[in-house]
Amino acid sequence: MRHCEFPAHRGRMEYVCLGCGATYGIGELHYTCPTCGGVFLLRDTAFDALKQTSGAAWREVFDARMGAKRSALRGVFRFYELMAPVLEEGDIVYLGEGQTPIVESAPALSARLGGQRMAFKNDGQNPSASFKDRGMACAFSFLRQLIRTTGADDILAVCASTGDTSAAAALYAAYVGGGVKSAVILPQGKVTPQQLAQPLGSGAVVLEVPGVFDDCMKVVEHLADNYQVALLNSKNAWRILGQESYAFEVAQWYDWDLAGKCVFVPIGNAGNITAIMGGFLKLYDLGVIATLPRVFGVQSHHADPVWRYYDQPEGAREFRPVAVTPSVAQAAMIGNPVSFPRVRHFAERYLAAGGPGAFQVVQVTEQAIVEGMLDANRHGHIACTQGGECFAGLVRARELGLIDRDELAILDATAHMLKFIGFQDMYYENAFPPEYGITPRPEYANRPQLVIDPARKAALSAADYTAEAAQAVVERLGLKAR
Ligand SMILES: *Cc1c(COP(=O)(O)O)cnc(C)c1O
Ligand SMILES: [Zn+2]
Repeated sequence: MRHCEFPAHRGRMEYVCLGCGATYGIGELHYTCPTCGGVFLLRDTAFDALKQTSGAAWREVFDARMGAKRSALRGVFRFYELMAPVLEEGDIVYLGEGQTPIVESAPALSARLGGQRMAFKNDGQNPSASFKDRGMACAFSFLRQLIRTTGADDILAVCASTGDTSAAAALYAAYVGGGVKSAVILPQGKVTPQQLAQPLGSGAVVLEVPGVFDDCMKVVEHLADNYQVALLNSKNAWRILGQESYAFEVAQWYDWDLAGKCVFVPIGNAGNITAIMGGFLKLYDLGVIATLPRVFGVQSHHADPVWRYYDQPEGAREFRPVAVTPSVAQAAMIGNPVSFPRVRHFAERYLAAGGPGAFQVVQVTEQAIVEGMLDANRHGHIACTQGGECFAGLVRARELGLIDRDELAILDATAHMLKFIGFQDMYYENAFPPEYGITPRPEYANRPQLVIDPARKAALSAADYTAEAAQAVVERLGLKAR
């Protein structure tokens, strides 16, 4: 079928430093600028050549690829030309990431917000159950290409993580195998048991550091600056590229019409929101979309440096890292986001192209986050606490009059609820340590109910046991006989 072959187009990519503007070739791995220490973005210097193809023709290409049967085009590389058009097909790693569904919110949930139009994009339906897989697919594909072209055969992939980055990195490293080994560095006791089990199961070396994510990040930065390791944190600009696919998919889902729509994104290390803004801007520059959707970043009052920055009057803004306190949105519990300069860069461009209000950040409480998750999931969604944070962000934006109910809000459910299920348990069991500042409402609690005592079971014949257990169920449920 036309457009379903692997694309022949190749771009020319380079690292561009957001601090000093220096550029570096992609022949080696770079994380921070050797000149000024700034963060990089990857730029395709041949991007303007894509403008010779009309927006309509690009839409046709990407839509045709929805039927592609080649693994390399089934996932995030459906949008190859916009993402990393330097990779060869054989190097592309596909583990089933991307193309996650957008699920319209249940009417009863919308009704709670006066009929607000809203939907969740379930990025927890990625292979390691979070959006991080999008970035890893791109970063590991590049790594494979680098290994093939340089002959490097012994690569240690390392990352610091609030849990999901390490799960994703370990998964992709395990798949790629060969000379690629992975080590993940986690804040001790600050990732969920499910997230800890993931890299362990993938066979990664798991190292714990007392402290919070920001402490782990410093250790990993030291390693990347002084030792031969491949860093897989979002400092790695290849990850940002892969995560742009989220924006491309949102646009395609709505048939490339983003008028009257906005997206809500939780901000932790700020890589995801960077990628989403960058992705929408690429589509806009190429005329693939005619309108930019508005972007709302969401932060907890326990980890809100980006919100604080934008809350200051324009012209007097100063970025200051914050000391975080425990948050149920644990994957976003970061006081000094690595990608903050990238956010500032794209926010400026986004506001210039989309007008006032095109990019905003809202702050929400821990109570609102956890109840946002519970409310969403009681209406058939599968939101993690960060997805709950997006929902809370939408509620807050409504309260502040930043959005009206006819604007369609797409909420990023960044991971699967099961990864963060311990927070649901803590809510139901009223077991939150006081630092969270969460007071569970007893009417929300839901627990299993034992219908018959095990000792009673031992005393009954099998037939009598079934009858008595069934009778107990009938009474609990108030069932009527047929
Ligand atoms: C990593 C992560 C975030 C935060 O994303 P950033 O790119 O660090 O801002 C939010 N939710 C989940 C589930 C994550 O894994
Ligand atoms: Zn620089």
